[in-house]
Amino acid sequence: MNHLFADLPTTIFDVMSGLARELNAVNLGQGFPDDPGPEDVRRKAAEEVLNGYNQYPPMMGLPVLREAIASHYARHQNLQIDAMTETMVTSGATEALADSLLAVIEPGDEVVLFQPMYDAYLPLVLRAGGVPKFVNLRPPHWQFSREDLQKVFSDKTRAVVFNNPHNPCGIIYPREQLELLAEFCVRHDVIAICDEVWEHLVFDGKKHIPLISMPGMRERTIKIGSAGKIFSLTGWKVGLVVAAPAIMRVLAKAHQFTTFTTAPNLQSGVAHGLGKDESYFSSMRQDFQRSRDRFCERMSAMGFSVMPSQGTYFVTIDIAPLGENDDAAFCQRLVREHGVAAIPVSAFYAQDAVKTVVRFCFAKKDATIDAALERLKHIAPA
Ligand code: PMP
Ligand code: GLN
Repeated sequence: MNHLFADLPTTIFDVMSGLARELNAVNLGQGFPDDPGPEDVRRKAAEEVLNGYNQYPPMMGLPVLREAIASHYARHQNLQIDAMTETMVTSGATEALADSLLAVIEPGDEVVLFQPMYDAYLPLVLRAGGVPKFVNLRPPHWQFSREDLQKVFSDKTRAVVFNNPHNPCGIIYPREQLELLAEFCVRHDVIAICDEVWEHLVFDGKKHIPLISMPGMRERTIKIGSAGKIFSLTGWKVGLVVAAPAIMRVLAKAHQFTTFTTAPNLQSGVAHGLGKDESYFSSMRQDFQRSRDRFCERMSAMGFSVMPSQGTYFVTIDIAPLGENDDAAFCQRLVREHGVAAIPVSAFYAQDAVKTVVRFCFAKKDATIDAALERLKHIAPA
């Protein structure tokens, strides 16, 4: 068997959700909301199953969804995208990441990754034959410097995988950081695989800036979104991919033998959803922001060291002040002895892990948050 996958542990998200089910713990680990998602979007998908066309949809996605992706990003991110040559629908952002890495990398090419990184990136890079070069981000700001990029970018660099807004750190990279990264991508002729699944989950009035809009990036960025995150329907796994035609032609070849297509009823539901009024997106953000504030304010009041969360479903806490220096062991005790599942941030590192930061998902109804807080009281600083 292939040694890379044979030796790989089960993803921390499935491990923690499994423990939460088994131990009847409050699950603030894996990122999924309590909210069932907009009823009209779900109704549209249900109607399509009953009355629509349930055979293979076109490989690149339903035209109605590809048009909706182009007009959605024009409206929300001021991007001019040609639906028929520059968009593709995949089975989740995960498939889009796999397609991108398979399509871009030749064995031996170097790929820049920022740690902590979403856990799918590294195995996919390695399986595609890429050689990872890590930039280590540090709490609480998790920013990178020109020197950091100088150390890892070279003429061997073929791609960079960049996640913004950032899971697990909950930060949104400011324009200056995007400009700095773009400068290096252009100078070294690098393709940016930009994981923007959290693009709509930005709080406090912040605006998401897509990397593809930075100078020189239009022809060298693969922009990846996820309808699961936009509509609180994480199980749907509908990925939204945008790239210039020369890149998209090759991406399509990777996609055609990875999944080929995605369930047509879900595509119709997402196409309907992407056209929803601004009020849906702003009230969705407000609701999550309110949950963030409820969780964070109460955690701070109990004495926990809560780091800022500007976006995503997540907030991190620093466990060093609790006298802890092993986040994985801490999370095991938390779920087994106190009945709350969380995610150790060290799971997002391949080396030199930060082991004193733990991620909580706040995208929950008040009763879930309150039940977790009640249990977290037992380990709160006095
Ligand atoms: N990238 C990041 C940063 C994520 O947080 C997630 C899942 N939450 C994904 C990719 C995967 O998205 P999907 O479920 O659409 O495959
Ligand atoms: N992205 C989700 C998270 O960060 C989990 C996705 C998954 O379980 N594959 O929690």
